[in-house]
Amino acid sequence: MYDVLKSNWDNILSKMKNDYEITDVAFRTWIIPLSLHSIDNDTITLVFNGEAPNMAIGIIKNKYMIPLKVVIEELTGKEFNRITILEPNAVSNALEEPDIPTPSKIIQRQNEANLNPIYNFDSFIVGSNNNMAHAVALAVAEQPGTYNPLFIYGGVGLGKTHLMHAIGNYIIENNDQLKVLYTTSESFTNELIDIMRNGKKDNTDFSEFRNKYRNVDVFMIDDIQFIIGKDRTQEEFFHTFNDLYMNQKQIIITSDKPPKDFLLLEDRLKSRFSEGITVDIKSPEYETRVAILQKRAELKHYDIEDSVFEYIADNIVSNVRELEGALKKITLFASLSNSKITLPLAQDVLKDLINPDSTIEVDCNRIIEIVSEHFGISVTDLLSNKKTKNIAYTRQVCMYLCKQLTEETYAGIGKALNRKDHSTIIHGVNKIAEEIEENASTKNNIDVLIKKINPE
Ligand code: ADP
Ligand code: MG
Repeated sequence: MYDVLKSNWDNILSKMKNDYEITDVAFRTWIIPLSLHSIDNDTITLVFNGEAPNMAIGIIKNKYMIPLKVVIEELTGKEFNRITILEPNAVSNALEEPDIPTPSKIIQRQNEANLNPIYNFDSFIVGSNNNMAHAVALAVAEQPGTYNPLFIYGGVGLGKTHLMHAIGNYIIENNDQLKVLYTTSESFTNELIDIMRNGKKDNTDFSEFRNKYRNVDVFMIDDIQFIIGKDRTQEEFFHTFNDLYMNQKQIIITSDKPPKDFLLLEDRLKSRFSEGITVDIKSPEYETRVAILQKRAELKHYDIEDSVFEYIADNIVSNVRELEGALKKITLFASLSNSKITLPLAQDVLKDLINPDSTIEVDCNRIIEIVSEHFGISVTDLLSNKKTKNIAYTRQVCMYLCKQLTEETYAGIGKALNRKDHSTIIHGVNKIAEEIEENASTKNNIDVLIKKINPE
């Protein structure tokens, strides 16, 4: 058990951060300094290696013990009743492992690089659809700067983002010098829009932006298709790209299409891209689909019959995200109804999902799922009564998009969002509509979301 916890420690902490919406500063100050010391029956002993240990341990005990227990149980299946926390000087030095890079340092760097530690090479299944992309990605991770730029393209939900994070995580785990930065092209655009809107005359904001993106050794930009055609962003991206490229820094780009298929991509960028390596990821074959499902079940400690994996893999063919969605739906249903995961149960739960001829239907549920994922909020929170700023805002974006993209009435949208009072919906729709008029980055976010909900 000690080994399981030790090797998953980073995942445990970052899941805790995500699930409990722990702020960055609290996470850095209280949680990252916690490391695993020992386990004895149902007691875990941790060491706090941060500042002001006395005070910190009190805060951690009050606020973060329960989240930690829950996440450990979710990830390992084992319930611990007691967690004790020691100050570093209470621990004998003989127990320290000085040569191994501390997990907390790695987590901190992954955090600063915007990387999700769960997306790594170990959890990435290789099949004939992605073996080339995988091999090249690993080569880039081993020798950043050698194959430049790396351009990964492929359809939605096929593992581009996963592979990109895997490269970044690998570099951080194996090299404590290189500075890695992951960004989506949406945040890149939004940051730029914000600076242009605030329009500082002395250009300090621009130089901050440029420093941020140009002072890195590995720059990863996800879903570049959202930048193409936006002149000012594309221009700024070109300069960032060139600067890094000239300095032999590694650049990694993902997109839904190969560079040659972009009509609006400037020639100078097209030719730069063609100097590097371009790899694609296709839809996984049957065996790979089964393996991905098995791996996912193993990571989550689900007990599932093979026939269920085969059934899902037989029927959901195009997209890994949908495969995972199907598995999630089945396990959720089984746990809610307290039943075993069997083939008949899977067939019943998936009957709406499995319809080979269906085209994408844009309804409120699809909008809710995509918008929640986009903002990193769970659908459960979105449909709950929680009123924190992020959740409430995400909900309003759903209201607006449901109104724009479906034929639903306000009452119907209210029902989909678990809201009784339809004046709330009218208010939400109007609020976002006004914000789009006033704020270019909101407009950009909404445009991106519309593309995600309704890809060409
Ligand atoms: P994309 O960026 O291409 O839209 P993602 O990287 O977000 O796709 O992948 C969607 C989901 O599928 C993620 O949860 C990812 O972990 C999973 N996934 C995709 N490909 C694989 C793979 N080869 N092995 C394991 N999981 C995968
Ligand atoms: Mg992606």
